[in-house]
Amino acid sequence: MTISQEELDAQALGTLRRYFGYEDFRPGQGALIHTILEGRDVLGVMPTGSGKSLCYQIPSLLLHGLTIVISPLISLMKDQVDGANEIGIPAAFINGSQSIDEQEDVFAAANAGRVRLLYVAPERLETQRFVNFATHADIALVAVDEAHCVSQWGQDFRSSYLGIGDFIDALPDRPTLAAFTATATERVRRDIIQMLRLRDPEVVVTGFDRTNLYFDILKLGTRDKANWIARYVAGHADESGIIYCSTRKQTEELADTINALVPQLRPAAGVDAPHPSSPIAVAYHAGLPPAQRERAQRDFVTDAVPLVVATNAFGMGIDKSNVRYVIHHNMPESIEAYYQEAGRAGRDGEPSRCTLLWNESDIVTRRRLLDNGGANERLTEDEQEQVRRWKRHLLDAMVGYCRTTACLHRYMTRYFGEDGDAASGAHCVGGCVNCDSTFSTTDVSRIARTISRCVHDLGQTYGSGKIVAVLRGSQAKDVLERGLDHAPTFGALADVPQSTVRDVLNQMVSDGFLTITEGRLPIVMFGARAAETIDPAFHYEMKSITRPKPASSPRPSRPAVEPTTFGGGHGGTDEALFEHLRGLRRDIAREIGKPPYIVFSDRSLRDMASRRPHTDDEFLEVSGVGASKLGKYGERFMQAIADFED
Ligand code: ADP
Ligand code: MG
Ligand code: ZN
Repeated sequence: MTISQEELDAQALGTLRRYFGYEDFRPGQGALIHTILEGRDVLGVMPTGSGKSLCYQIPSLLLHGLTIVISPLISLMKDQVDGANEIGIPAAFINGSQSIDEQEDVFAAANAGRVRLLYVAPERLETQRFVNFATHADIALVAVDEAHCVSQWGQDFRSSYLGIGDFIDALPDRPTLAAFTATATERVRRDIIQMLRLRDPEVVVTGFDRTNLYFDILKLGTRDKANWIARYVAGHADESGIIYCSTRKQTEELADTINALVPQLRPAAGVDAPHPSSPIAVAYHAGLPPAQRERAQRDFVTDAVPLVVATNAFGMGIDKSNVRYVIHHNMPESIEAYYQEAGRAGRDGEPSRCTLLWNESDIVTRRRLLDNGGANERLTEDEQEQVRRWKRHLLDAMVGYCRTTACLHRYMTRYFGEDGDAASGAHCVGGCVNCDSTFSTTDVSRIARTISRCVHDLGQTYGSGKIVAVLRGSQAKDVLERGLDHAPTFGALADVPQSTVRDVLNQMVSDGFLTITEGRLPIVMFGARAAETIDPAFHYEMKSITRPKPASSPRPSRPAVEPTTFGGGHGGTDEALFEHLRGLRRDIAREIGKPPYIVFSDRSLRDMASRRPHTDDEFLEVSGVGASKLGKYGERFMQAIADFED
């Protein structure tokens, strides 16, 4: 029973290579696995796509006894079990969709040691059947995935997670407890430790920078967004993507627009769509009938449909690793929400793109929702105000992201509390639009001050159209009829382009200098910060950006420089061969009735296309190929490569 630390680590690394086909651990994985194997509790805080699953999957193969994984969603569970089985880990799940006989079969297999990794939904822990099983089973490790679901301060709170602590306490022998989350907030972290009753856990927090993601932000008028998106989608027809909208209605409208526009925009030749007749985009939101929702998710996950247009209800159940782009049609409410949703791109480590479309009216809408947000009856007036203040603070950080001219990767890592100075030496590995653009900031203090004065002149009783007209000295009939040409600020900004006056006014609204009332005839009034504009020291800026030219290469989501660590010296990835291998992957996926990425990730296929293996040993060199996948698919893929080369 006395195994040295070196031996533990060697076993873990051997398992990583043999089963998973990866050469080395990623940051955090080694330490977490080591600590678990020593029998100590852990909390792993690592971003989406960083490889948390492996941190309990490897121990499940090395520990004497069963590993139970508590995972919030049934759909997620099935994919995880499929994925584990594909690489040779005996895994199964227990959930409410199974008959009692099926559940008993799984329990028997676990008791006989034929299942080492057992996924359960948290609701199961409260059933007598499961408690009976668990009390008599030899459980070495309980892993809690998406552990932030236990916290009411997180976005995904699930009351069933609160029962986990009691479940563990009721077991005759306390197993090791391992919790994993991508949520970086200190508050949520504290909740996890407390509510799950972790014992003196080793807390491992890894860097939050996702170096394979390219971050783009683009200020676009509301009407231009759909067209921009359709053009983007048409240019990336063979890639999988997610578009997030803020309302259910928007998801359906945008999906319709895309399905109507994209076929016209797409070049007629050269695109080998897997199902020419099927739609390009499907809508997904919580208001759809369950069957339709499941269908949408299934089609997306199996690559039958490349694109899903969704509300934020979509995502946590999605483990799809080859999402190449995420576009936000509107600005989300916080950086946390944005990073989680955008982070669903590129889980396989391949270069992927996250684009945020925004404009000033998005900001105004968000602020309005916050101020008039539905009252929570359980909270006192005071507490509600506190919550509102906290949410305003989160929103400000999100607005800051839209406005900043600094590196977007650094903005994120700073936000998540990584030392700004330590990170300042690091350059922008994944790339971002701000690092690729040139900026100029314009001093618009005079314009802002004058707008403010005009609002005062007009007695806070007119809409923005009139204010701009007055400032520009318009001779329009209704301006003259109302005598607005006698206002002291009439014509005061005649020298400034109308669009600039508009932009500054809008920016003043979203910054709180002005507000716009709701209703059929919105009126511009003073906001909380209005007084600042009469301060002689008042200074106000607006940034303008010269964006990089859209890349003319066929896959703009892949930056010119590969930020990956493998494949060097192999003459680069062969695009045509990659497509060829994708076809084979699709065939196999259909044969076994599993999503394509369960067969191989995009990353593995790219590595394969660049290495062109012809022998078993060469095939094992491919990232993500272990003994099990070599046995199952090696021959067919090597044959496909040989055929391609003929
Ligand atoms: P998370 O749960 O943290 O979001 P996953 O566990 O789903 O991430 O892993 C994301 C992807 O990274 C998977 O495709 C996984 O196989 C891959 N991965 C995990 N660890 C490694 C590693 N050490 N080397 C290469 N790829 C890895
Ligand atoms: Mg995970
Ligand atoms: Zn950058």
